[in-house]
This record gives sequence, structure tokens and C-alpha cells, in this order.
Amino acid sequence: MKHVALVTGASRGIGAAIARELAAAGCHVLCNYRSDERGANEVKDGIVAAGGEATLLPFDVSDAAETGAALAFWCEGDRAIDVVVNNAGVVKDAPFPTLALEDWERVTRTTLDGFFNVTRPLVMPMVRRRWGRIVNISSLAGLVGNRGQAAYSAAKAGLIGATRSLAKEVAKRNVTVNAVAPGLIDTDMLKQIPVDDLTKMIPMRRLGLPSEVAKLVRFLASDDAAYITGQVITIDGGLA
Ligand code: NAP
Repeated sequence: MKHVALVTGASRGIGAAIARELAAAGCHVLCNYRSDERGANEVKDGIVAAGGEATLLPFDVSDAAETGAALAFWCEGDRAIDVVVNNAGVVKDAPFPTLALEDWERVTRTTLDGFFNVTRPLVMPMVRRRWGRIVNISSLAGLVGNRGQAAYSAAKAGLIGATRSLAKEVAKRNVTVNAVAPGLIDTDMLKQIPVDDLTKMIPMRRLGLPSEVAKLVRFLASDDAAYITGQVITIDGGLA
């Protein structure tokens, strides 16, 4: 039977690439987004044009009630979600003394509350079905920190902690939980950053592609990755 894969933040960038890759692997992909309906529709139409299956599932991952209602709507009857990719994320860089509480909250709520809101309702059904894949998109910033990224690094490090703990809880039931920690990937998220200077620091002297991250996620979501769990896999052109 076809697996159903939910990708949060699938309207552009890394999430869009993951949605396309999982659809190419044969999954029915639920493309989540918060506001970028046009982008999400383009991703969905591209998947369908390539012969795949996709459905839009808009909700704000940081809003527990909205997320719960959207997931309950999809899971009505006996519809399942077998693969969850917690990809939605926002960045708000500021030197720590000037970091506003609302920015701290927006970043941590999207990544950490988002992980909780999306994953908790879906994990018990996976446990009961004795199969599931959870892939959390963290960041190199969550492993090594970055100047001006206290909120982002804290959220992404927290996501790694949640990944390792949940992996231990559900391993016996063939549900794997892993994190991917990308370095600098060529998406809209890097728009405000002077990437030319940063690229010089990357041993491969280039940014990563969303499709390269997506291929790693596709592997982690597959049966071939059945014995990999609780891991953080870095994809950064040698930066770390
Ligand atoms: P992006 O181009 O800015 O895309 C972010 C996606 O997340 C969009 O689809 C956006 O949709 C969605 N999103 C944001 N807040 C949301 C919310 N509350 N609920 C639902 N969807 C939400 O970013 P990206 O570069 O592809 O990043 C994807 C993930 O990779 C993020 O978690 C990011 O932290 C991580 N990452 C990126 C890099 C990099 O260099 N690009 C490096 C390391 C890690 P809407 O516009 O509709 O809100």
C-alpha cells in the first residue's frame, strides 16, 4: 500500500524538494504550508504532473488547535500518516541583547511547538501499525551555534533532543526518528545573509541544494533505513 507522507513547510525551499522526492518514491504527499498557497499549489501541481499524488493540508504548525483539527480531518476514517517530515521553520537573527521576546517565541514555537503539535497525534497510530518514519529538519546551528542565532540554535538543538528521546521510546515498534542538520542550503531563507562570504568557508565552496537534502530524507523515510534511529545526520559540504 502507498505510504502517506506529511511534509510541513512544503510550499518552497527544502520542504518543497522533500515533497517532490517523497512523491517520486511513491508516497502520497500531504503538502503543508501556512500562508504561501500559491507556492504550495505549484508544488502539488508539479507532483501530479510527474505522475505522483499530493494533497494540500494548510495549517500553522505553531498553533496546536489548528494543527490538531487539520490532522484529525485527514485521519478521519482509517486514513493514516506513515511518514512525518517536520520541516517548517523560520529564522530571526539578532544579537542576543536585542533579540525581541516575540521573535524568540516565533522561532521556538515554529520549530519546537511545531514538532510537538504535529508529531504527538501521529505517533501512537504509527506505534499501533508497527511502522513509521519521523524526520526532523534541524540545522548545523543546533549543533554548533551561530552568532546572532540564539533563538534559532536553541530551537534546533531542542529538536535534536526531542529526536533522540522519542527515538528511544518508539524503536521497539519499528518507528524511526532521525534529524537532518543542513549547513547552508540555497533557499529563500538565506536571502538576507551575505552568502558569498559564507561560501568561502564551506570546504566544497558552494551552497547545498534543496534536492540534496531531500534525497537524504527520502533514504531515511525508506525501508532501507530501518535500522537507523536517534541519529543526527549533517549535510553541509564539509562545513562542520
Ligand atoms: P524557507 O524557504 O523559508 O521555507 C520555509 C517553509 O516553512 C515555507 O514553506 C513556509 O510556508 C513554512 N512555514 C514557516 N512557518 C510555518 C508555520 N508556522 N506553519 C507551517 N509552515 C510554516 O526555508 P528553507 O530554507 O526551505 O528551510 C526549511 C527548513 O530547513 C527549516 O526548518 C530551516 O530551519 C531548515 N534549515 C534551512 C537551512 C538553509 O540554509 N536554508 C539550513 C539549515 C536548516 P509559508 O510561507 O506558507 O509560511
